[in-house]
Amino acid sequence: MSESQDNSISDARRQAYLDKFGLTPAEASHDILIQMIEDHFADGLKTEVEPFPETDREFGKLLDELRPMSADQLREKLVLSGWILEPYGEDQMRCQECMYYLVHKRWCDLPELDLPAKPDWWCRLWRI
Ligand code: SF4
Repeated sequence: MSESQDNSISDARRQAYLDKFGLTPAEASHDILIQMIEDHFADGLKTEVEPFPETDREFGKLLDELRPMSADQLREKLVLSGWILEPYGEDQMRCQECMYYLVHKRWCDLPELDLPAKPDWWCRLWRI
């Protein structure tokens, strides 16, 4: 089954999550999701950090692509959002200052992402 054509994940990816964490992202708690995200990057995940969406139209296009993704499509969300585990650019942009970041919950409240995030992380949907 193709991962890009629908909102499911492959059997192999599902099994990999089960083997490592005992559940898939859709069932995972905040702390386990953080571990899953860090594990993807420890495995060498490269994300689409650029181009940064300069216009509302470009921003909206990314949201349109993210919206159909299921909670289990964690890896795909990280790739498309350009997620990284460090501040970005000259201005050292990071989740902590993003309008979507819930500081006390340590959570990205952008509905199309809806994932836990550490304050020093960043993605290209960053907004103030
Ligand atoms: S939109 Fe991106 S930068 Fe903003 S809180 Fe969410 S993950 Fe962090």
